[in-house]
Amino acid sequence: MSTIVVLVGPPGSGKGTQAKVLCERFGMAHLSTGDMLRAAKKAGTLEPEFLAIMDSGGLLPDAAVIGLIDRRSREADCSPGFLLDGFPRTVPQAEALGTMLDSRGLKLDAVVQLDVKRELLEERLIHRRTDKRSGQIYHLLYNPPPPELLQAPDSLEHRKDDQPDAVKTRLDAYDSMTAALLPYYEERGLLRRIDGVGKPEEVTGRVVASLDTVK
Ligand code: AMP
Repeated sequence: MSTIVVLVGPPGSGKGTQAKVLCERFGMAHLSTGDMLRAAKKAGTLEPEFLAIMDSGGLLPDAAVIGLIDRRSREADCSPGFLLDGFPRTVPQAEALGTMLDSRGLKLDAVVQLDVKRELLEERLIHRRTDKRSGQIYHLLYNPPPPELLQAPDSLEHRKDDQPDAVKTRLDAYDSMTAALLPYYEERGLLRRIDGVGKPEEVTGRVVASLDTVK
């Protein structure tokens, strides 16, 4: 039996970290539409009109992302299961996913939502800094960079999308995306709302406990 999970979480919720750990633990392949599209962009195989949509931060047509997931999820590494990250983002995508799984005799086990209060997300993202050389991520208040980095501010990156206005836009986009999607899955008894506050391993423990009931 394959394990098929959708992971949903706002920017700054630790979704990337949890996706990695959960895939290792359950042997699932990690299917991130954002990563797939960025890889296609880098390889120069993304259609120009999709490139323009991505660059403007808009959503690609449902059929395009559904096709991507349909093809990718047929590959051999997906047979033990897969974790969907960044898909579905709309109710039509969720419906298409259901139809696709049905037609292959598969079913979605759970939709895991990492729940973190908006104020905390803003605080996490706005104070996030990355060491340009090592890629190490710090938080100015809770996990501050070493003094030599703080004294050389050019060595620390404050990502453009972590500036206060961009953070607000990203969180608003997440809220409007999930407004219809989460109730859709809640009605179907698939939604697992997980408290995303705490150490990464504590959050993983909660997610794993919530998935135990589906296996
Ligand atoms: P992400 O890294 O998940 O934020 O995805 C990066 C970009 O890829 C998004 O801003 C969209 O342009 C596109 N994208 C990724 N997943 C989807 C999806 N499920 N539906 C539509 N567009 C998507």
